[in-house]
Amino acid sequence: YSKDSGGNQLKVYTPALSSKRVERFNMESALRYALERGELTLNFQPQVALATGKVYGAETLIRWNSSDGKTIQPGDFIPLAEETGLIVPIGQWVLERACRECKRWIRAGMPSLVISVNISALQFQQDDFPEIVRKVLEETGIEPFNLCLEITEHTAVQDMEHSIRMLGELVSIGVKIAIDDFGIGQSSLLWLKKLPVHIVKIDPSFILNMIEDSDDLAIAKAVIDMSHSLGLSVTAEGVETEEQLQRLQQLQCDRIQGFFTGRPMTSEQFIAYFKEIANW
Ligand code: C2E
Ligand code: MG
Ligand code: MG
Ligand code: MG
Repeated sequence: YSKDSGGNQLKVYTPALSSKRVERFNMESALRYALERGELTLNFQPQVALATGKVYGAETLIRWNSSDGKTIQPGDFIPLAEETGLIVPIGQWVLERACRECKRWIRAGMPSLVISVNISALQFQQDDFPEIVRKVLEETGIEPFNLCLEITEHTAVQDMEHSIRMLGELVSIGVKIAIDDFGIGQSSLLWLKKLPVHIVKIDPSFILNMIEDSDDLAIAKAVIDMSHSLGLSVTAEGVETEEQLQRLQQLQCDRIQGFFTGRPMTSEQFIAYFKEIANW
């Protein structure tokens, strides 16, 4: 404590550690209300098929426009949302909104687009999750093949028995399953054989230096070849240069997603993007 110069007011100096805690607490209460205040928005990042150059679909990426005017990136609030359980209502909102946007795209003349949605571990652990997905499809009127659920490798291998059952139920609905951030976990490639999934997403960390680093290139090639021999298709994430695109094309990677072909954008921008590519 220190006495304010002249006055009789006591000032409290919070040590660094607990001010971090205060910050976290403030952020948690703000996040709690972000949904109902309409501060959460969605961006969509194009995924392009390498064989045809056509737009395959888009991944849904959340943003938080906080009340003080700043845009907060998911890396800075998704972990907190996961720790507090807020990710469940937020994730539910993302799923509904994404499917509704996809319905707009279908109506705008893009019937076979695939919308990808990130599903967090807590959502995936809910036993009634397949029921939730079925209901969202029904309410938004998109077809199961229009929806891809992205589950990280980390989430998928946490409880194999649960994952096999859950993924089996989701696949039987007809939605696609992608394994996100593939390659950075410690799991062996073999478990991919056991899980009913369709798409492997190579983590950007392998794409970043694949031109300069022959180890990264070898890993990308191995993931692509192994996925193909298991009957899975591959999306490379974080493609930023034409050189990376060409190399991935040579490796017969199926799709790319990255700043080179398109940054995350609004739904309106995505419709315009699609029409522009379709007219090339
Ligand atoms: P992710 O699912 O692996 O999403 C890809 C991230 O890579 C996105 O970051 C995207 O903007 C970024 N990215 C794409 N292309 C490039 C590129 O060429 N270069 C570089 N440097 N980065 C690129 P973002 O939007 O910040 O999202 C980060 C993570 O937050 C996501 O990783 C995902 O795990 C999580 N996330 C985002 N939205 C949601 C959501 O609705 N629900 C959940 N549970 N997680 C979400
Ligand atoms: Mg993802
Ligand atoms: Mg990823
Ligand atoms: Mg990621």
